[in-house]
Amino acid sequence: MSDARNPFSLIPAVDKVLLELGKCSDLAPLPRPLITQLVREEVEALRESVKAGNHEVPEFSAFVSGLIKKADTLFRSRIHPVINGTGVCIHTNLGRSPLRAEVISAISGVGQYYNNIELNLDSGERGRRGGFLEHCLASLCEAEAATVTNNCAAALILMLKHLANGERNEVIISRGELVEIGGGFRVPEIMEASGAKLVEVGATNKTSLEDYKNAITPQTGMLLKVHRSNFWMDGFVDEPTTEELVALGKEHDLPVVEDLGSGAMIATERLASIQHEPTAAEVLKRGVDLVCVSGDKLFGGPQAGIIAGRPDLVAGIKREPFFRALRCDKMILTGMQETVLEYLHADGIRTPDIPLLRLLSADLERDLRPRGNALLSALKECPGFEVDLVESVARCGGGTMPKAEIPSLALNFKPTSMSVARMAELLRKCSYPIMGYVVEDRFRIDLRTVFPEQDAEVSKNLVAIC
Ligand SMILES: *Cc1c(COP(=O)(O)O)cnc(C)c1O
Repeated sequence: MSDARNPFSLIPAVDKVLLELGKCSDLAPLPRPLITQLVREEVEALRESVKAGNHEVPEFSAFVSGLIKKADTLFRSRIHPVINGTGVCIHTNLGRSPLRAEVISAISGVGQYYNNIELNLDSGERGRRGGFLEHCLASLCEAEAATVTNNCAAALILMLKHLANGERNEVIISRGELVEIGGGFRVPEIMEASGAKLVEVGATNKTSLEDYKNAITPQTGMLLKVHRSNFWMDGFVDEPTTEELVALGKEHDLPVVEDLGSGAMIATERLASIQHEPTAAEVLKRGVDLVCVSGDKLFGGPQAGIIAGRPDLVAGIKREPFFRALRCDKMILTGMQETVLEYLHADGIRTPDIPLLRLLSADLERDLRPRGNALLSALKECPGFEVDLVESVARCGGGTMPKAEIPSLALNFKPTSMSVARMAELLRKCSYPIMGYVVEDRFRIDLRTVFPEQDAEVSKNLVAIC
């Protein structure tokens, strides 16, 4: 049939490959158009490589196995649940804050059916979108007004657009705060993208009130403070207090805005052996006009940005044409609403039942050790590795509280029949993937970020990869 001397004749036909794949029970359950596209691309790539002079055309069966692997890789790249064994509580690659079951079920009810998102049920007329949530957020932040946006980056852009534009588009910021928050988010770039003109003052480590004062011109629109949420400075450092900056702003009739980012709403030092992270309410008490924080960092909700502060400014921001482009949808608004309601119900008397706060406040001996011991006995007989429990360090993550080291407990593996990297890879490729980390040729799964109800899945996967 095929001419062995002509490699082109060895290139399989798309239909033939599709027919063969149809018989494979281990083909990833991808929709047919995706499989067909994958096959076409692979056949085409093979043809190109033969054209380029490659005469090593794979056997048909090897070609099909290669496709099954590729389909598997594509399937595993869809968004699906992952077990977080990294010990990093707010892991941006793993979706930041997990949401509580009650929040998810509220979202599911609202998403599945119609809802009153823009309906006033008393009058039957059009209602204010997210009005109740704004009311609750203002109460939680002890602010006169609040609103929500797509994320904290959007909140910052909106505040800049509203307060620094036209003739007064200059924003004064300390050089010590021109920071990069995370992948693709640099404060100076965001500021310029919003049309504001950056006026940098001071030095990286020292900025004085005089520096701010000397930079004020008739073109100044606002004074901006950016919280150093993801790094700290030590040594020869100084900056004016927020109160001093607020007084300077008042003197010159300029709004003072703080991008707080991290989003703590309760005293973090009461959760774990970590320092105090400023809350939105505290920052507003110091007199800043507006503050913005992230919804999915220490707040423990879905991706969103919270803006709180002066009612005239919040109302003005909501009238910005850009606000429409950066607003949240019904599911996020519901997730935020249920999360903030839990904070308000807890009322400072108990720790709100928010998964992230539960992870941070779990007690090593009382909560983690018994689970660790149970996992150890379940895994003792596994042939592929030696395992023990070690004390570890968990982190807040998500660019918050970089100094905080939370004592934790980790399963510590020494694989006996494969490399540590291979073990990590196999666990990532499970149908319920596990992300751990490697230290000194050991693979670790930190128990602080694994939910107790996932323990059974962890041991099942570990047994399976042996
Ligand atoms: C994280 C962070 C942001 C960005 O928040 P997103 O919600 O991810 O957009 C902005 N500013 C500060 C200070 C932050 O820590």
